[in-house]
Amino acid sequence: MSRIDKLFGLLEQATSQFHTAKAVKEQLLKQGFEELLLKHNWELKKGGKYILEHHGSTIFAFTIGTAFQAEDGFRIAAAHGDFPGFRIKPNAEMEAGGYLQLNTETYGGAILSTWLDRPLSVAGRVVLRSDDVFRPEIRLLDFKKPVLMIPNLAIHFNREMNKGVELRKQVEMLPVYGTATGKLTVGAFLQYIADVLEVSKEDILDYELTIYNTDKASFVGLQDEFVSAPRLDNLTSTQALIEGITEGVREEGLNMMIVFDHEEIGSRSKQGAASTLLTTVLEKIYLSLGMSSMDFANALEESLFMSVDVSHAYNPNYAAKYDLTNRHVINTGFAIKEASSQSYATDSEAIAIVQQICEKEGIAYRKFVNHSDSAGGGTLGAISSAMLPIRTVDIGVPIWAMHSSRETMGVKDYESLVDFMTAYYRL
Ligand SMILES: [Zn+2]
Repeated sequence: MSRIDKLFGLLEQATSQFHTAKAVKEQLLKQGFEELLLKHNWELKKGGKYILEHHGSTIFAFTIGTAFQAEDGFRIAAAHGDFPGFRIKPNAEMEAGGYLQLNTETYGGAILSTWLDRPLSVAGRVVLRSDDVFRPEIRLLDFKKPVLMIPNLAIHFNREMNKGVELRKQVEMLPVYGTATGKLTVGAFLQYIADVLEVSKEDILDYELTIYNTDKASFVGLQDEFVSAPRLDNLTSTQALIEGITEGVREEGLNMMIVFDHEEIGSRSKQGAASTLLTTVLEKIYLSLGMSSMDFANALEESLFMSVDVSHAYNPNYAAKYDLTNRHVINTGFAIKEASSQSYATDSEAIAIVQQICEKEGIAYRKFVNHSDSAGGGTLGAISSAMLPIRTVDIGVPIWAMHSSRETMGVKDYESLVDFMTAYYRL
């Protein structure tokens, strides 16, 4: 299967952050990775490949070199498995003027207009009543068919709409799931969830359900040089890390990839990049291999962290929004992102390492900086490097329309990123 086909597969499966974690885990288990539990003592072996899931939506995977020594340090790369959109509130069902609608809130910084008039579905996790009150049953759910629509207004009701329209999350953005004129009534949505899971509606205690765009990924351009798809932010990086850690094997050192949850809402949670868990896991690996906490502390200076997330590609229709000398045209290489504010982790020594890897391997890259009058965005890079103080670089594939329900990237840029990730873990 080609690299792009594998990415398309992940785009299809990863319809919520829980499904991203599940899909990542399945790919790695097929590659011979062994699953660990945080509550156990670990018996790790040099040459071993391991995964650790954290609260269902964050995944760590690591490989230990056959000749790993404490002072070799570790090479980490992290992406995120969540994406902007909507979450269904509790008690969500409402009847409004003959229709059945869901009450939702937004998750992260979605471009709301791009969610209008799209066939939408629902995925996430549902938590059920159990015999042990401290261990409710958790089930993943994906409707896998369009069930929701957020209808736009016809232009005939607002002739000025092409000059910009305010969309209020609690008013214009509520999705419809049926008409109330037939046999459907309030409660039908929860019943549908219960039917899909084959459980009783009364046993559903809570849920974290995401609304997702059911559009399929497609190639665009005379030479199929673009890919347009939902959730490129940040499944491109997630799949590139999987390719990297499975293809890029080295004897010395420790390679680790992480797919964090909650990046789109600031990373400050137990599953996010601002969690202390990464340090705990690394230290536990050292101790499990018979090394000491001191060995772990000593290894920080030798170690590296790649924060891998999408970047902004130059859009010719909005030329004034981009930097004067660092415009990134699609299909000219992956991006190394820099910001003096550290909204992208920026450290010239670490960046030079990335450049030298690219030069050695003949991999295309471009440097990206935001226009000085625009704040741009942030990533988990700086957050994570504050928690784990090692050299950190922000890199990723440039895309158009970041946080649209459908984003666009270049095929060659994705190839460059995968080549880089493989070289990073191998050299
Ligand atoms: Zn992102």
